Amino acid sequence: MDYSYLVNVYGKLSSTSKRLEKTYHVAKLIEKASDTDLDMLMLLLQGKVFPVYDDNKIGVAAKLVIKAIKLATGFSADEIEDEWKKTGDLGITASNFISRKKQVTLFSQELTIQKVFSNLRKLASIEGQKSVNHKMQLIAELLTSARPDEAQYIVRTVLEDLRVGVGVGTLRDAIVWAMFPKVVGIFYKCAECGGWMPDTKLCLSCKKSVDNSFVDMVNALKEEKIVIAESDNIDKLDLHDKNYILPKDKDSARQIYNAIVEAVQEAYDITNDFAKVAKAARDGLKDLRKISLEVGKPLNLMLYLKAHDIEDGFKTVGKPAALEYKYDGFRMEIHRAGDDITFFTRRLENVTKQFPDVAKVILDSTEKTDFILDAEIIGYDKKTKRYLPFQKISKRIRRKYDLEQIQLDIPVVINVFDVLYADGKTLLKAPFSKRREMIASLIKEIPGKIALAEQLVTDNVDVASRFYQEALDMGNEGIMMKNLDGIYKPGARVGYGVKIKPVMETLDVVIIGAEWGEGKRSGWFTSFSVAVQDEDGNLIDIGKVSTGLKEKKEEGTSYEEMTELLNGLITSEKGKEVTVKPEIVIEIKYEEIQRSTNYSSGYALRFPRFVRLREDRGSDDISDISLVEELYDTQRGR
Ligand code: AMP
Repeated sequence: MDYSYLVNVYGKLSSTSKRLEKTYHVAKLIEKASDTDLDMLMLLLQGKVFPVYDDNKIGVAAKLVIKAIKLATGFSADEIEDEWKKTGDLGITASNFISRKKQVTLFSQELTIQKVFSNLRKLASIEGQKSVNHKMQLIAELLTSARPDEAQYIVRTVLEDLRVGVGVGTLRDAIVWAMFPKVVGIFYKCAECGGWMPDTKLCLSCKKSVDNSFVDMVNALKEEKIVIAESDNIDKLDLHDKNYILPKDKDSARQIYNAIVEAVQEAYDITNDFAKVAKAARDGLKDLRKISLEVGKPLNLMLYLKAHDIEDGFKTVGKPAALEYKYDGFRMEIHRAGDDITFFTRRLENVTKQFPDVAKVILDSTEKTDFILDAEIIGYDKKTKRYLPFQKISKRIRRKYDLEQIQLDIPVVINVFDVLYADGKTLLKAPFSKRREMIASLIKEIPGKIALAEQLVTDNVDVASRFYQEALDMGNEGIMMKNLDGIYKPGARVGYGVKIKPVMETLDVVIIGAEWGEGKRSGWFTSFSVAVQDEDGNLIDIGKVSTGLKEKKEEGTSYEEMTELLNGLITSEKGKEVTVKPEIVIEIKYEEIQRSTNYSSGYALRFPRFVRLREDRGSDDISDISLVEELYDTQRGR
C-alpha cells in the first residue's frame, strides 16, 4: 500500500475529534488492506512500529531528526531550529522545508508503508559508533522521497508523537465495522451513495442526510446477502459471506452489535495484537473465538474497582469473599514455558532482563511446566525485613546496568495472587477459588522469596476489619476483596475484585509538558503540565504541578532528576515551555478537584503536589476522566 494512502487517512483523522468519524475512516482503510498491510497498519495507526511488549524502541531524539531534515533538504540546522520554534511541531517544520526543497528538485518515487515501516524498524536495531549517522541516513532517505504531508507524519512517527487520536476503542470498533456484516439498526445504508453508515444525521461519505428508519432499512435490505437474527446470540448466527444482520428490533440490534464488539475486545485483551485480531475476524467469528493465550506473549491484566469500606466491598463481591493483602509493590505478569521465564509489567513492557533473581526463584519454586501468573513484586530492607517504599523498588524496572549490585541492595519477594494459564489450559473462565487452588499446587513457597498472597475467606465484617487492620500494620497499602466465583477478565475493570485503602485517592497522571525554572533553578524544569485520559485513551490536561519534588537528589525525586528524565523526550520548545513525549507517569495528590475551562479535561486541581514517580506505568495506564468525575462528585459537601 502506498504511504500516501495512509497519510490521507491520517489527515482525515486529525481533522475530526468525533469518534464515529474516526472509526469510519479507519474501518474503510482496513477493509481494503491485505494481511501483510494489516500487520503494519494496525501499528502505524497508533503511531508505532513495534508492539508495546517488544523490547525494541525507536528511541530517536528531535536533534537527530533535525540533522536528517538538513540532509534531506539542504537547509541549515539553525534555519530548521528557528522554524521549529515558530511552529512548535517538528513534523510541520519538516513538511515546510520539504515543500520548499521540492520546488527545486521535482522527482517522485512513491513511498510504500512497507518502506517506511522497515526503515523505522531498523532505527531500533542500530548500535555502535556510527549509529547516529546511520540512523540519520535512514530517516533522511524517507524524507527525500516524501511529499510534504508524508514528511510530517514520518517525523511524528519517528518521534513517537503521531497525534491523530486513534485509541484502542477506535481500532476495536473499526475491526467490527470492517470485518463483520453490518447490524441493521446500528448501521444504515445511505440512499444517496449506497455507503453503510452509523446512526449519524449526515452520511459520512456523501454528506447528504440519511433516513435512519429501522423498518425501511429492513425492507430495503431484503435483497442483500443477509442473515435474519432469530436470536441475539451471535454464535448461533451464520455470518459467513453475509453483508447484513437483520435483528428483530432496535434493542436486539444493540445487543448483537455489543456482543460482536465484546468478542473483538476479548481477543485483543489476550493478544494485544490488533493485526492478529483483524485477520481472525475477517475469517469469521469462530476463528476470532479460537484466539487463545500464548505463554510468552503478554495479555492485559484485570483491573479492580474501588470500595469505600468493607461493607461496600462485600456488596460488590458478595459473601463470603476472599480478602487479601494489597501489597504496595509493582505488578508483574510471570510467564514460564519450559525453562524460559518472561516478565511483563502492567503496561506490558518486557522486564525479564532486569529481574534475573526473580527468574531464578521461579525456576526454584515451580515445576517445569507452562503457566502465566499475576503477582505483586515488593522490595524489603535486608536488615529490618520491612517492606520498602515503592520508589526504591521501582528503580529496578528501569535499571539496565549494575544488576548484580541492585539485586543485593534491594531484594524482592514475589506475592502471587492469580493464575491465568497452567498445564496447557487457559483458566480465564475458571472461578477465582479454583485458580487460587491452582496457584497453591503450582508453587512451593520459599520464605522471603515467593509466597501466595496472604488470604482470608470470610463473610463476617468484624473478622474482615481485623484482617484489614493487620494488613495495614504489616506495612501494606490496604486490602483487596475478591469474588470467589469471579472469572478473570483481562483488561477490564469489573467488579470481581475491589481494593480498599485508607488514604485519599491520588491520581496517576502523565507529564505532557514542562517549564524551565528561574534564577538558580534555571537549569531545571520546575513546573510540569500533566494529563489524565478520556474514555478513548486520549490525553486531556488537568493542571500544572510544581511542588513536592526535592531540591537535592539525596532527598528523593529531585527537580534535577526529573529534568534529566524529560530532557530526552522533548518534542517542541517555545520560550520557556516545552512539550514532551507522554512517557513519565507520576502520582500526585491535591486539596480539591474543581471544574475548570482552563484545561481540556474540564477539571483543575487545587494545590497539586508530586508524590512519586510511577516507573511501572505508561501513559495508557494513567487515571481516567471517570475517576476524576467520581472523585469530584464524592468530595466533601457534594
Ligand atoms: P491500583 O493500582 O490502586 O488500581 O490497585 C490495584 C493493584 O494492586 C494491582 O494492579 C496490583 O498491582 C496491586 N495488588 C497488590 N496486592 C494485590 C492482590 N493481592 N491482588 C490483586 N492486586 C494486588
